Amino acid sequence: MAKTPKNPLKPETRLVTSGRDPQAYHGYVNPPVYHASTLLYPTAEDQVAHRGRYSYGRRGTPTSEALEGALASLEGEGCAGVALLPSGLAAIATALLATAGAGDHILVSDSVYRPTRNFCEGVFKRMGVETTYYDPLIGADIAKLFKPNTRVVFVEAPGSQSFEMQDIPTIAQVAHDKGALVLMDNTWATPLYFRAFDKGVDLSIQAGTKYIGGHADLMFGCVSANAATLKALKDTVYTMGLCVGPDDMYLALRGLRTLGLRLARHYQSGLRIARWLEQRPEVLRVLHPALESNPGHAIWQRDFTGACGLFSIVLKPANQKSVYAFMNELTLFGMGYSWGGFESLVISFDCSEYRTATKWAPGGPTLRFHIGLEDPDDLIADLERGFAAFAAVAG
Ligand SMILES: *Cc1c(COP(=O)(O)O)cnc(C)c1O
Repeated sequence: MAKTPKNPLKPETRLVTSGRDPQAYHGYVNPPVYHASTLLYPTAEDQVAHRGRYSYGRRGTPTSEALEGALASLEGEGCAGVALLPSGLAAIATALLATAGAGDHILVSDSVYRPTRNFCEGVFKRMGVETTYYDPLIGADIAKLFKPNTRVVFVEAPGSQSFEMQDIPTIAQVAHDKGALVLMDNTWATPLYFRAFDKGVDLSIQAGTKYIGGHADLMFGCVSANAATLKALKDTVYTMGLCVGPDDMYLALRGLRTLGLRLARHYQSGLRIARWLEQRPEVLRVLHPALESNPGHAIWQRDFTGACGLFSIVLKPANQKSVYAFMNELTLFGMGYSWGGFESLVISFDCSEYRTATKWAPGGPTLRFHIGLEDPDDLIADLERGFAAFAAVAG
């Protein structure tokens, strides 16, 4: 993309400028969407020689190139290329398949996104890849868990549902000393708030379904790779026949244009509501690393430049009925999985069924909130009504 200036620009500017070249398509601001499978060669000689920039829809189109370029530009220095996948989970599975195989051992954070565990317990176990789960707070002690065949450390910070922070630079240093790669699920912070490659990550994964899409209408995932891992990643994507539909790629590219603005608002409103919840008598703890009271706050402050709108709370011991009364009373918080869209959400969750390296004993019922783009005053008023319903049932 000739007119795309690169790294001297700040990330928010790159979100606007990258992945498009108006002079290449009649001056229109946005690139056209190529619905493409077959590509026709002008001559027999060209066909036999596979001459030209493109060869087949699955192998890349101007649409996929635009999105890959924009995502690579957002990652910035250290990123050698990006692979596009049809969901966040497909991105996780592909990154793992690209870096570990039969006979290998991998280390996975105990607070990883649950379907990541399912992949390790299912496909990877059948393939003969052994997984050890580690306490996300382990830090340099992760060295003790390495075996001669440990190929990958999979990190996610903050952890899914419970929001533990991990010392990723330290873990990455140990992993690299031992000859292992570091894979990270960076969906929560996005490259805007956590510079994965600066912190020692080799492959950085995002569920683009969340903030890149941003409107609860897209399934998408991506993996960004450094120079050492890009070939293995691209070979795996090609071998597995993975690709993303052109309209979905376009939605992802469109979402990127406003990612900076949306995330800043999710961050601000999320933190304000987290602070408000922290003062409520019904609340035991708020699991949000940007709060000074949070055990992971020092790491967050050192390594992250922001937070998204997703966090959890632990309520003081209460009966299930009163928790459900609270949730059912809310009108601005939908009850549903996934997150990262413009709207606020709440779910009740319990990690105790599947954590193995740590014990999940939060001390009360747990709820996860996604704070959307609504006016936070309205959200607080809604939560106040919820707590009134909670009290009415709790007695
Ligand atoms: C939602 C999520 C994913 C999976 O994304 P999908 O697009 O739903 O497959 C992966 N990691 C994290 C942290 C998520 O929250």
